[in-house]
Amino acid sequence: MALTPRRDPAWAFQAYRPEATVNAKGEKIEDLFGANVFTLERMRERLPKAVYKQLLATIRSGEAVDHTIGDAVAIAMRDWAVDHGATHYTHWFQPLTGLTAEKHDSFITPTVDGRALQEFSGKDLIKGEPDASSLPSGGLRTTFEARGYTAWDPTSPAFIVENPNGTVLCIPTAFCAYTGEALDKKTPLMRSMEALSRQARRALALFGADAGVQRVTTTVGSEQEYFLIPRGFYQARPDLLACGRTLVGAAPAKGQELEDHYFGQIPDRVLAFMLEAELELYKLGVPVSTRHNEVAPAQYEIAPIFEDANVANDHQQLVMIVLQRLAPKHGLEVLLHEKPFNGVNGSGKHNNWSMSTDTGVNLLDPGESPGQNMQFMFFCTAVIRAVYRYGGLLRTSVASAGNDHRLGANEAPPAIMSVFLGEQLHEIYRKIEQQPAAQGAAADAGLMGLGVNVLPPLPKDTGDRNRTSPFAFTGNKFEFRAMGSNQSIAGPNVILNTIVAESIDHMAGELEKRTTGGESLEDALRAVIREVMRDEGAENVLFEGDNYSAEWEQEAAKRGLDNLRDTVESQENLLSDRHTELFEGYGVLSSRELASRFEIYTEQYVKTINIEAETLARLARTQLLPAALKHQQQLAETVRASEQAGGSASGARRQLDRISALVDGLDQALGELVKVNDHESPEKILDHARYMRDTVIPAMHAVREQCDAIERVLPDELYPMPTYTDMLLTR
Ligand code: ADP
Ligand code: MG
Repeated sequence: MALTPRRDPAWAFQAYRPEATVNAKGEKIEDLFGANVFTLERMRERLPKAVYKQLLATIRSGEAVDHTIGDAVAIAMRDWAVDHGATHYTHWFQPLTGLTAEKHDSFITPTVDGRALQEFSGKDLIKGEPDASSLPSGGLRTTFEARGYTAWDPTSPAFIVENPNGTVLCIPTAFCAYTGEALDKKTPLMRSMEALSRQARRALALFGADAGVQRVTTTVGSEQEYFLIPRGFYQARPDLLACGRTLVGAAPAKGQELEDHYFGQIPDRVLAFMLEAELELYKLGVPVSTRHNEVAPAQYEIAPIFEDANVANDHQQLVMIVLQRLAPKHGLEVLLHEKPFNGVNGSGKHNNWSMSTDTGVNLLDPGESPGQNMQFMFFCTAVIRAVYRYGGLLRTSVASAGNDHRLGANEAPPAIMSVFLGEQLHEIYRKIEQQPAAQGAAADAGLMGLGVNVLPPLPKDTGDRNRTSPFAFTGNKFEFRAMGSNQSIAGPNVILNTIVAESIDHMAGELEKRTTGGESLEDALRAVIREVMRDEGAENVLFEGDNYSAEWEQEAAKRGLDNLRDTVESQENLLSDRHTELFEGYGVLSSRELASRFEIYTEQYVKTINIEAETLARLARTQLLPAALKHQQQLAETVRASEQAGGSASGARRQLDRISALVDGLDQALGELVKVNDHESPEKILDHARYMRDTVIPAMHAVREQCDAIERVLPDELYPMPTYTDMLLTR
């Protein structure tokens, strides 16, 4: 049988056998965990006591690094890295592309007498000046001030990346313009954590729970979904190579309808890949803990144990990098795109989020005493209020061309941001709201007038969860489920931290007013919760029903909740005064920094659609159309030959008519796509984005429709690419 783009990779993949290269020596995970990380423990071993103490104080308090300790830390870090075979180091940062960036520098400096010395000073550690003028800046950097600089983030540990031919020391850094304006994802994240910490500590003081608390951090655990397909198939698809998703492809006869993949047995070679990737992540100190099959065929999930948001964000990037780097070794390719396959579930990233004191108290844990319960109700209400007031912003933080395929598509949460509390907690809010405001009533009736002394334990188990909710309380944290699989988790957490800081600020202020006016803390809190939920209207954001239903869309509109259907609608309001004031007020983003994000993300949308349109046009014209023409020609010959031989050609003629009509249809749709995508760019970026959405995307749909119809009738040997069945069902 001839080799085709389908059979060749399939055979190659069958020939592959996992090699037992990983952990063949049987090392214990405890010994491997963090082996490639310059941990606190290693710093303590290698640094002078005084330097270590100072560094620790910096890390704990989140204050700036004292330059006087830079040299000592640099030498210790370099020695440790060199012991691990490092020849180079890099400031590792997260530009607004959403990816990571690195530029390697050697530790070696030549001397005058022709030798080479290892050099790496405090200056090299603390500040770098990559020529980063080609990274997106959204107007923050004009060409004459093109330089940017990277600044060491001591709160996220340095680590070593291994390669068979050597290793590199990676130092997590923030990336700024010379003006000090943030050009990256890490800086605003750290600023937002700081803003939240300040407000949360103030609130804790009101509850008398601030003893020994220096900092409140946000904690994040993000679950990563991804597809894994044989690499040969990936390489035979120009659309996957260029866009990360298939632009054509008819739905397979067997998809996910049998529900036989979710939590199913993990195929051997997939497991071999996972085991190696996880080991690699352990060495990097990334606490991955869960793996399983996801809903769609060939879809999987990996989830870590939560960490502080800044480290969790760095580690999430490492998860994506390590998965992508190791899959080819196993003959596989990882697809992180939100919607690689039409008609099959897409991939997201669930962002589990909470707040915790540095003394280890989770502020979203209801606790077991009335005091803890009240504190929980305060912070929980602050989160509800934040989502109510800034749901649009939260939605914008997950907007992208890729995620537009998922949100609202009955597989992912809708674009309307609502909060699911679970029946018990919801009921508690209802009771508090219904209580008469009369003074003193609360005390008699027990905890906050609820008629009980402590809250009942709230369920954490999955059974009670509403899987359709974009923002669900899950026992001691909130789970934000609208994020795209390909996305940096920094942005959505910046928004979460900032909007919750604003709500804590507001509610702490109200509480202070009431308690200084002589009200008991319990009465005051009850009143504040009622004000927030009823008078301000935050109760409108609570929804326990089916978020996928059409009724919810109508109901949400009545309640005045935003329903921003796509990236374009999401970006429209980003730069409102209300948003600018919020970000400036909490020192998270200046108005210029916010405007730069708007510019960059809108442009990314336009560019993505443009690349997809061009890839599709090329693929359809150079691969599918020729295949269809060949089939047409074969049929024409068959018809002629049959008639010449005096036989009936009616069946062949019908086939010929059908493929001829499809060829015509594809030719026309292609002409239209090329025409609309070859346009003058509107001056305003948002107008350009609108044009892509309203004109180019529909033209792409029209081309795809013809392509997929052709695929359904084309002889198997003529179809020029691996099919959905090949990619999704080959194990
Ligand atoms: P699931 O049933 O969805 O797997 P888990 O409780 O196991 O729920 O947690 C899912 C994710 O939430 C994990 O990454 C976990 O570490 C994270 N998580 C748990 N507690 C917190 C918390 N307090 N803050 C942030 N993330 C958390
Ligand atoms: Mg989950």
